[in-house]
Amino acid sequence: MSKKTPITVAKGDGIGPEIMDATLHVLSVSGAPLEIHNVEIGEKVYLRGHSSGIEAKTWDTIRGSRAFLKAPITTPQGGGFKSLNVTIRTTLGLYANIRPCVSYYPFVATKHPEMDLVIIRENEEDLYTGIEYRQSPEVCSSIKLISQPGSEKIVRYAFEYARAYKRKKVTCFVKDNIMKLTDGLFHTTFDEIAKEYSDIENDHWIVDIGAAKLADTPEAFDVVVMPNLYGDIISDIGAQISGSVGLVGSANIGDHGAMFEAIHGSAPRRARQNLANPSALILASVLMLIHIDEAEAAATIHNAWLKTIESGVHTYDIFKEGASKKKVGTKEFGEAVASNLGQMPEKLSSIHYDKKQVAPSLTFKRKKIKTKRKLVGVDIYVYSPLSLKEFEVKALKQEPSNFEVEFISNRGARIYPEGHPETFTIDQWRIRYLPKEGKCSLTDTISLQGELAGNGFDIIKTENLYHFDGKPGYSSPKG
Ligand code: NAD
Repeated sequence: MSKKTPITVAKGDGIGPEIMDATLHVLSVSGAPLEIHNVEIGEKVYLRGHSSGIEAKTWDTIRGSRAFLKAPITTPQGGGFKSLNVTIRTTLGLYANIRPCVSYYPFVATKHPEMDLVIIRENEEDLYTGIEYRQSPEVCSSIKLISQPGSEKIVRYAFEYARAYKRKKVTCFVKDNIMKLTDGLFHTTFDEIAKEYSDIENDHWIVDIGAAKLADTPEAFDVVVMPNLYGDIISDIGAQISGSVGLVGSANIGDHGAMFEAIHGSAPRRARQNLANPSALILASVLMLIHIDEAEAAATIHNAWLKTIESGVHTYDIFKEGASKKKVGTKEFGEAVASNLGQMPEKLSSIHYDKKQVAPSLTFKRKKIKTKRKLVGVDIYVYSPLSLKEFEVKALKQEPSNFEVEFISNRGARIYPEGHPETFTIDQWRIRYLPKEGKCSLTDTISLQGELAGNGFDIIKTENLYHFDGKPGYSSPKG
């Protein structure tokens, strides 16, 4: 008997406890050697006054385990509650989110019988950093942060995953025709890393048309890697078009921990009715077993689950008169999977997990980026309820001592010079100041702020402008 692996289990909220009980039943009957540590997270913890839905002692339990199996939780409505999922992912550095979306045709209705793709979503950066500000009465702003190490880790993970699972192609989805610096960095990192994996094909789609193609012809894709927000949205689409969001489990992998969960939420309207499909969490537990080197138990449960699906024993979300045989509740579905342990599917392809195929480990060495960085000016963001013409007059009237205005923009559109009177403006303005002498220091830009504040400018924030090896590290306005 192999040594038991400690795992942390959280039953979550809404349908969470029901789908977790069904999953734990399957795990228990499978004999997988697990030592389970239960923790409470989510709604009740939030309402006890912990703004991130988790208590300090829970982190120690998670840290002491090889894996965290987590049911969905409900984030209470209203301000002040932080997303627990995002907190766990970023606190533990779980940078890779793996979401396999597979068709089980003809047993589960789908328009895409050949679909078999894996979405690998970056898990820590992008708009998900949650760095947001209300800057003026009319404007809120959110920071989209993409880093080179963050991009390299997820892209490498996607290629390593493709190798480990004998997949042929890795596709990158970004929107770098618009976000040339942030998504541009993700894309150039992808192109660079792809060269190290000549055995795997690679390609790239702009995310809008890529998402449309994936929703229409998912069989054209194999492994798809993308920044956080696109991955969130597109993996729900992928799951739904494969049959149901209730079918897709996910792994969140980092260098110091791993969390496994269903991709769906806590579906409060379905709670406590023995209705929900526990498949996503059962399949998440399969991903967990692979991760903790229990490849055999993972394959046994996965095959029993496939056998259950092809036998037509279905929960309401995938039940179809004619195609399905028996409509069951959450508990009965779990029991059906448990009773099929040891059996192989006959029509759907059976699964075999290679011991070495476990979640790929990365050989990520953070590289020192050698680049010459030079301060060349500053963008100053100003709050003003003035009209376009009035603000332009104000901004140009008092020229500061050492800087001149290169342009004024509003919502990214140029309003000076060569502005257009039709441009709609809001109460936040950007003025780009360049040094008159061609050179400036940090102290100069700070003095400029003092001078502008003295002249009655209500400064919201500033953004320094740098050249990197002579190339601008900032965008310029449209128009
Ligand atoms: P949801 O995924 O909970 O539900 C969306 C729809 O899918 C509902 O119609 C629901 O009935 C159906 N559905 C979801 N899971 C199902 C399952 N296993 N079986 C059958 N049908 C299923 O999304 P929502 O309604 O937008 O969110 C509800 C709550 O879940 C919110 O509080 C949200 O913050 C939370 N949430 C949590 C997580 C997580 O913990 N990982 C993820 C997403 C949303």
